[in-house]
Amino acid sequence: MTSISANLQDVRTRIANAAAAAGRSPGEIALLAVSKTWPAGCVAQAAAAGQRLFGENYVQEGVAKIGELRSLGLEWHFIGPLQSNKTRPVAESFDWVHSIDRLKLAQRLSEQRDASLPPLNVCIQVNVSGEASKSGVAPGEARVLAREVAALPRIRLRGLMCIPEPTDDERLLRSRFATLRGLRDELNAEGLALDTLSMGMSHDLEAAIAEGATMLRVGTAIFGAREVRKGET
Ligand SMILES: *Cc1c(COP(=O)(O)O)cnc(C)c1O
Repeated sequence: MTSISANLQDVRTRIANAAAAAGRSPGEIALLAVSKTWPAGCVAQAAAAGQRLFGENYVQEGVAKIGELRSLGLEWHFIGPLQSNKTRPVAESFDWVHSIDRLKLAQRLSEQRDASLPPLNVCIQVNVSGEASKSGVAPGEARVLAREVAALPRIRLRGLMCIPEPTDDERLLRSRFATLRGLRDELNAEGLALDTLSMGMSHDLEAAIAEGATMLRVGTAIFGAREVRKGET
């Protein structure tokens, strides 16, 4: 059995190798440990091994872990689909939300973000694969949404996020990630200052790094295989 700490070390090595292959510095690529379905004890183990950023998909589960582990001073990212009626606990407890796909969600988060907290960092989720079933805004609609979200007072628009369709086709994956990067570059050329490309998971982080990822979201390669849960993306 491998430990969380050994897995983390393996992932860091993969990141360093992929960054070197792409001529990038590993220091510009943040690692988010996706701890959904894993108990607070597993998060604490990863934290003891030096991991600071964690990603959660389910509101109740995430908020409970954040409360339990408050003393560790970790940074928490909400990365799952979010219903409009569940924004309040997310605005109150998380540091980032990666899954903004409509203005209403961002408006509610902005209104509900307490004035005593720093603005909530957000990414707009873009559907780079064009599948009807997947969440995320269509690439052609991202520009308008980005402008509207960037204008909200208690929100800080940091960048874009995507989850390409599962595939072993490296070229296809690279083209999906390149779509997100191209969109980010267009938006920055138009005056936004987006510093984050949230892309790359356990099986495709090398391709994402090659295409400019600045934040990886890695679960299985750190914590092991999850039990399948209803509604999981
Ligand atoms: C679960 C999840 C991940 C992590 O996926 P792994 O394949 O376990 O690395 C990343 N991003 C999102 C949005 C997820 O829901």
